[in-house]
Amino acid sequence: MASTVPLTQGNEALAALVPYRCSYCQSPIAPGERWVREKVFDSLTAGDAHYRRYHADLYGDDVLSCWEKHQVEKEDAAERVA
Ligand SMILES: [Zn+2]
Repeated sequence: MASTVPLTQGNEALAALVPYRCSYCQSPIAPGERWVREKVFDSLTAGDAHYRRYHADLYGDDVLSCWEKHQVEKEDAAERVA
C-alpha cells in the first residue's frame, strides 16, 4: 500500500534544485504548485523506496488533478486483476 503525503510549503529551495516532474503528465511541477508524493517500493532494488510526484492542482477544464487521475487508474487496474 502506497503512502501519500500532501506537501504544502517549505520545500522551495529543494524544488529549485531538483525540477520534479509529474509522473502522470510528465510536465515539470512548478514551485508553488501543489503536488502529492507517492512512496513506491521497488521490488527490483530490494525494497528501496523512491517517490513519484503528481500535480494536485486542477488545470483548465479538468475535473480531476493528475493525482486523482492516477488514483482512478490504479483502481481500474485493480478491478481488471480481480
Ligand atoms: Zn501532472
